[in-house]
Amino acid sequence: RAHLDRIADVDGQVNAYLHVSDHAVEVAQDVDRRRAAGEELGPLAGVPLAIKDVLVTTDMPSTSGSRILEGYMSPYDATVVARARAADLVPLGKTNMDEFAMGSSTEHSAYGPTRNPWDLDRIPGGSGGGSAAAVAAFEAPLALGSDTGGSIRQPAHVTGTVGMKPTYGGVSRYGAIALASSLDQVGPVTRTVLDSALLHDVIGGHDPRDSTSLTDAWPSFAAAAREGARGDVLKGLRVGIVKELPDSGFQTGVAESFRDAVAMLEAQGAEIVEISAPHFEYAVAAYYLILPAEASSNLAKFDSVRFGMRVDVPGGTVEDVMSATRDAGFGPEVKRRIILGTYALSAGYYDAYYGSAQKVRTLIQQDFARAFADVDVIATPTAPTTAFRLGEKVDDPLSMYLNDLTTIPANLAGVPGISIPSGLASDDGLPTGIQFLAPAREDARLYRVGAALE
Ligand code: GLN
Repeated sequence: RAHLDRIADVDGQVNAYLHVSDHAVEVAQDVDRRRAAGEELGPLAGVPLAIKDVLVTTDMPSTSGSRILEGYMSPYDATVVARARAADLVPLGKTNMDEFAMGSSTEHSAYGPTRNPWDLDRIPGGSGGGSAAAVAAFEAPLALGSDTGGSIRQPAHVTGTVGMKPTYGGVSRYGAIALASSLDQVGPVTRTVLDSALLHDVIGGHDPRDSTSLTDAWPSFAAAAREGARGDVLKGLRVGIVKELPDSGFQTGVAESFRDAVAMLEAQGAEIVEISAPHFEYAVAAYYLILPAEASSNLAKFDSVRFGMRVDVPGGTVEDVMSATRDAGFGPEVKRRIILGTYALSAGYYDAYYGSAQKVRTLIQQDFARAFADVDVIATPTAPTTAFRLGEKVDDPLSMYLNDLTTIPANLAGVPGISIPSGLASDDGLPTGIQFLAPAREDARLYRVGAALE
């Protein structure tokens, strides 16, 4: 009830939610009843949860921030939602996002932008700005996001929250409306590292319904976070700093916060090692070919027949209806990427664009492999700037894309990444984050290190 009251008080300004559950109180009361009856409850029983609208739910609409799915009700729950319900978490509502998770500011939502609770004239990051803003504004204690090129970590950075992108395959994508299937991962957005680990424990692990789901047995992430908070895990930890990351591309306050955080790591016994990742600078270019290519294919299913809205064209053919529906249902950023993606995949251009991008992807994976032979984790600022102003980049796609500079390499390589608050920037007083990256399957290491620094 406290969270619903808070939503009623502030969400008119923040616009973190697209839909608030009308039966959250009932679900919570049922948990209480079962607790009173001595029933064994799930580990996070009764804790409210905000759910990014990219995840399908049976009891609330799922739009992925798009007009084309307005009012769409899914016949099934995403696996992560089903697991949250089974653990007796209480879904509070669905959070706002850039349309089909394309963006870094939540301004591409068909339902109006979310605002950053730290400064309502600024963006909350994207694409999962709703989940991060909900957590930062105390409209939810925990949230779920999805991260294809940074959509969990960059919103966490600009809202002073913790955002975790698990190892690719570590958390089920079943029921996550696909953006780019080889890059998408679902993960937690929270206020502390331990909260993130607790939620990750609930949603993670093998799912036979996701063909790329890993069959690994995962350690307890909560245990890792508790160990990190307690112990001296930073002593002797080898932390890699990427020497090719340009100094100039980073806002002064962000670069300073990062240097301070690194100094803190060093003071606690970590060894700072300069590493080389020569291909990181091509990550944004490769990503913005691979992502549109996969997205153009994934979004072909919105054909006016199978899902969502349909625009009638009297006397028109099926193609006319499909075309009119996609024209009215998709926003400009989605159209831009579909056009880019189909172009990159078309005969004659495939090798030059998509093929080259895939080769760059391999080189970035090799950069990581070389680096991790030498260091335990890599640290970077999570994003080059603090929260920018609404409207500042929305008409300039290239500068919006460049905001993903440091988050994208992890998705291209499938490795886990976490963003942890690293204080307020000295130049504008806004939140910043430090990102840690670890080898694939070493998510627990990120929780250990994150909790130690927190
Ligand atoms: N900002 C990136 C993009 O626009 C990230 C998106 C995401 O992670 N879903 O593609």
